[in-house]
Amino acid sequence: MLTETKTETAGVLFDKLNQYDYEQIVFCQDKATGLKAIIAIHNTTLGPGLGGTRMYHYNNEQEAITDVLRLSRGMTYKAAISGLNLGGAKAVIIGDHRKLKSEALMRKFGRFVENLHGKYITAEDVGTTTKDMEYINMETSHVVGLPEIMGGGGDPSPVTAYGVFLGMKACAKEVYGNDHLDGKKVLVEGVGKVGGHLVEMLVAEGAKVTVADINEEAIHEMVRRFDVGVCALDKTHEQDIDIYSPCALGASLNDESIPQLKCAIVAGAANNQLADETRHGRMLMEKGILYAPDFLINAGGLINVYTELHGYKREIAMSRAENIYQVARDIIAMAKNENIPTYAAANKMAELRIEAIAGVKRTF
Ligand code: NAD
Repeated sequence: MLTETKTETAGVLFDKLNQYDYEQIVFCQDKATGLKAIIAIHNTTLGPGLGGTRMYHYNNEQEAITDVLRLSRGMTYKAAISGLNLGGAKAVIIGDHRKLKSEALMRKFGRFVENLHGKYITAEDVGTTTKDMEYINMETSHVVGLPEIMGGGGDPSPVTAYGVFLGMKACAKEVYGNDHLDGKKVLVEGVGKVGGHLVEMLVAEGAKVTVADINEEAIHEMVRRFDVGVCALDKTHEQDIDIYSPCALGASLNDESIPQLKCAIVAGAANNQLADETRHGRMLMEKGILYAPDFLINAGGLINVYTELHGYKREIAMSRAENIYQVARDIIAMAKNENIPTYAAANKMAELRIEAIAGVKRTF
């Protein structure tokens, strides 16, 4: 993990790039618009690096560097495990998006993306919007996440929810011998865009769903539409359930929550659910809880924008998301055979695919 916050010398930065084998880091600066951005391209073995542009008020430049390096590497693994022909990359724009953002700034950033000639494809992320992607698109075609009328994929959350649903089924097959979720007690924590669609699929399948959310309106909406129970926020981890589905924030699997969990499966949409991948991945395994790696089962968002690259069709995105079921099954089998946590099996499988394709591309 990359956690340093001190100012670093170029030598230390190169050591870090070397440790995880980053390909290219681009520092972008424009005085007129106030743009300060960093584009990190981690690995393009499988294809162009695709990852969103995050605009955030970082406390210092080092924080921005740490974030962009961590996120871009995560994208390499997500694309690889999802079977996409994409590499991993990410960009950050330093600054408060409510104060600094302008058409000129986003277009200037678009020029920097254009200068990479397609090695990096950008998309929406925290602090940027579909409108920003439109501005970027005025300067470069290497952008996805455009509005539907411009050939974009629109809201990715139904595709993401479908992937989570299938990941859950793959886990159920392992634990219960079949992948039917009817009668299974499922707690969905966070019923926003993804969680809401997931609840709809679970209810249709006959699962006994309970929901939890900090937003009362989101809860009311679920109760109005579906026959679901409601769980108080401070009781989510101690519920006697079959499946816990974190669909709100990251790091919900930690030293405090894992000992309390009374479930057989964890499968949700939130990014970075394991507060500490190594420690908490192992804790879950030792507790006998099957964990569906988040970066695989929530890959529907990436699959959705990937589909834009070749002429978007929702049916194609959904059909690509179906692959998540088999990959999850393969990861579970590998984890079992090698007696390793599922997150570790997923990482290994992603690395094996990259290595194999690098071999194909080597000239001989
Ligand atoms: P969202 O903002 O629409 O929904 C999140 C929901 O979680 C909201 O209803 C919010 O009130 C609730 N919430 C926030 N804090 C909470 C807490 N402490 N306890 C309980 N509920 C809480 O977001 P979303 O698009 O549905 O995404 C959900 C998660 O999945 C996020 O972590 C996101 O990064 C991840 N994800 C989303 C997509 C996608 O396609 N939208 C793709 C990949 C990953």
